[in-house]
Amino acid sequence: MPGRIPDDFIESLLERVDIVDIVGARVALKSAGRGEHKGLCPFHDEKTPSFTVSSSKQFYHCFGCGAHGTAVGFLMAYDGLEFPAAIEELAHTAGLEVPREAGFEPRQRHDRIYEALAAAQRWFRRQLGQSEAARNYLKARGFDKSTVDEFEIGYAPDQWQGLSKELGRDGFTPAELERAGLVSNAQGRMTDKFRERVMFPIHDRRGRVIAFGGRALGERGPKYMNSPETPVFHKGRELYRLYQVRRQGLPARILVVEGYMDAAALHQFGFGDSVATLGTAVTPEHLDLLFKATPVVVFCFDGDRAGRQAAWRGLETALPLIRDNREVRFFFLPEGEDPDSLVRGQGKAAFTRQLDQARSLSQVFFDELCGRVDMKTLDGRARLAALARPYLEKLPEGPFAELMGAELRRLTGHRGVAGASGSAPPRQPRSEPIGDRPLTPV
Ligand SMILES: [Zn+2]
Repeated sequence: MPGRIPDDFIESLLERVDIVDIVGARVALKSAGRGEHKGLCPFHDEKTPSFTVSSSKQFYHCFGCGAHGTAVGFLMAYDGLEFPAAIEELAHTAGLEVPREAGFEPRQRHDRIYEALAAAQRWFRRQLGQSEAARNYLKARGFDKSTVDEFEIGYAPDQWQGLSKELGRDGFTPAELERAGLVSNAQGRMTDKFRERVMFPIHDRRGRVIAFGGRALGERGPKYMNSPETPVFHKGRELYRLYQVRRQGLPARILVVEGYMDAAALHQFGFGDSVATLGTAVTPEHLDLLFKATPVVVFCFDGDRAGRQAAWRGLETALPLIRDNREVRFFFLPEGEDPDSLVRGQGKAAFTRQLDQARSLSQVFFDELCGRVDMKTLDGRARLAALARPYLEKLPEGPFAELMGAELRRLTGHRGVAGASGSAPPRQPRSEPIGDRPLTPV
């Protein structure tokens, strides 16, 4: 257990940091004169800025929702940090070490990893400038220059040691590059992890580069490759583009796709509120981050069997986190399409129309379970009740849980489910099961 942080340290720390820097690293702010700054409030949904940050008073205040506090309070609310972690974060920004009164264990510093990743990002960008083949590839994939710049896309050339030699000249040690996930070290020979790939930097919620995703240009190796897990990169806790989406204010909805190519294509077609998971299933941490930024999360999944299974896993993860002001929807893509191909092939209007028909969590839930039983028989309906119950028990109490319980009673005609009374005659579900056949549990 780390010891207590002395009060006088906290006081002197607060004198040294500027709240404008702390908030400005996370929220787009504009100067409003006399040390005042304005931006879109990160704590409520708004179209005109009523969120102010004062450098003279060293606090933030929102005239819309009343959110208010110091730099420490902001970090706790925005980054979801406990008080000691918020102090650590502030001290780090100020270049100070947090003293502890007893039993202090120094927290591992990751500065060199961030520096190496930032240097790698600069190098990848320069390489794209020098590679006509890579620029042509992006052009052929339909990415215009403004998208390439907005996404800061770079290029890792077809070299075994291009990046490692360059960063070695900059003073980074092989061990540092390995910890940053940039090189592999096999039998003492250091080689670049990413070769012959267009490179997408992945940012954390403060806008620092923490990893890369690379799309192969040629046929060698896997089509998509991400940085390995490192001390600064945990796939289950990061969402590609969430930093940029949040900087534009709180969106009415966030679209979640699988890859960075999809997010970039959607952005280019006007869906700037798209983020991507990084090759992992949706985690509770992902959903927490998403629901901090928006009330409506729309997951895009492939219409094929694997996509429907992934959707069901996402649904299971979401169930315990659903509250009345949170909504999860599922957008199943036509088979053989991904968001990139769909938006390019059909255009913005058609994509929007299909997106608007994304299915609610309750629809997907009951359609899936009804598809597993024979709803025409009493026995099938009884099994539906048994299948649904463990899931419904995971729902937090509230109107949503009650409505789900009511829907189950309506479908089964059984009044004893989920406790409440009232029943309706059983009938077939209104909509069809997902795709052409039911999912099997995984
Ligand atoms: Zn507000």
